[in-house]
This record gives sequence, C-alpha cells and structure tokens, in this order.
Amino acid sequence: MDKFQTDPHNMGNDDLVTTRLETLVNFFREKGVNWARKNSLWPMPFATACCGIELMATGASRYDVARFGAEVMRFSPRQSDLLICAGRVAIKMMPVLQRIYLQMAEPKWVISMGACASTGGVFDTYAVVQGVDQFLPVDVYVPGCPPRPETLIEGIMAIQRLVEKEGIRPSAEREKGMRHVVQPTYQLTMPTAAE
Ligand code: SF4
Repeated sequence: MDKFQTDPHNMGNDDLVTTRLETLVNFFREKGVNWARKNSLWPMPFATACCGIELMATGASRYDVARFGAEVMRFSPRQSDLLICAGRVAIKMMPVLQRIYLQMAEPKWVISMGACASTGGVFDTYAVVQGVDQFLPVDVYVPGCPPRPETLIEGIMAIQRLVEKEGIRPSAEREKGMRHVVQPTYQLTMPTAAE
C-alpha cells in the first residue's frame, strides 16, 4: 500500500499522527502567521506636523494602541512594518521618506494620516507634496485635520483586516497600495432652532 494513502481506515497510527501534524502546521502557516503579524504591527512614525501630536495621543494611556499590539513604535525602518505618515511632507523631505520606506522590512503597509499627508491639505504650494500617494503605495487613508486617535485606531484596524486577508504578500505585488479610506462612523447632530 502507498505510504501516503488518504483512507483513514487503512492508516497506521504513525500515518495518522503525521497527517494531523501536517494539518496543524499548515493551519498555523496559513492562519497563525497572519494572526500573529496583524496583532504585532510595529509602526514607523513619520510625524512632521500637528497630526503627530494625535499620533502620540494614540500611543498614550487614554487610547492605548497597545490594545491592538501596535504600540512598539520603532524609530528604525529596518524594524518596522507599518509606516504612519502624519503631517505635511515638504518636497525636499520626500526622498528621505522614500528611503525610509525602502529600508522597511517586507511585508509592509502604509497609513496616510490626515489631510496634509493625503492631499497637501490647506498647503496648496509648490513646496508641499500634494499627497504622499504620488510617491508611496498608501494602503489606508485616515481623514481629518487632525484625525482623532479613534480614527487612527480605525485605520490601524483596517490594516489588521488587510493583513489577515492578504497575508504576507510583498508590497511590490500590491503596487499602488490598497487605498482604503477610513469612513467616519460618528453622526453629526445639527442644533435645533430651540437650542
Ligand atoms: S492635517 Fe491638519 S492637523 Fe494634520 S498636519 Fe495638516 S494641518 Fe496639521
């Protein structure tokens, strides 16, 4: 009989153990790695302006991004897999940001935080990059000026969903990035005439 038969009734104990072990290893390879990776994102903060303050607040005790396993801010790109670009980027700074992105470990993801990083914001001048996505593959845009920490956390959760779904696809395969936009979930209530 073939050693690798699949009929469980004809399997020896050794074959059963090997098959179960193989199933377990495959399960961890497919699901476990992604699960571990999504819960241990290491952000590279690139904070150039006021959005950086909200990024700091996201890491502090009130919002505590450690709940999502993403509190280990690395200031070395080689130890990071999530670039958070917070604030406006001057055109002279863009080559630096690109180099940081290239030095980051694969697989890697990018969050564009705030109006300035995503579009240039109110700084419609030749000196400010009108959206980092012209030069970097952005996976998630976080809107706002500045975005509140809750919105950034929603962006990090969107990256987590991506990691869970996409696995360890290298950034070169994702080309221009996934370009998801975090939608504000709150409802604005307009004051009534009586108020
Ligand atoms: S989006 Fe607003 S808060 Fe953020 S860097 Fe630009 S001006 Fe500052």
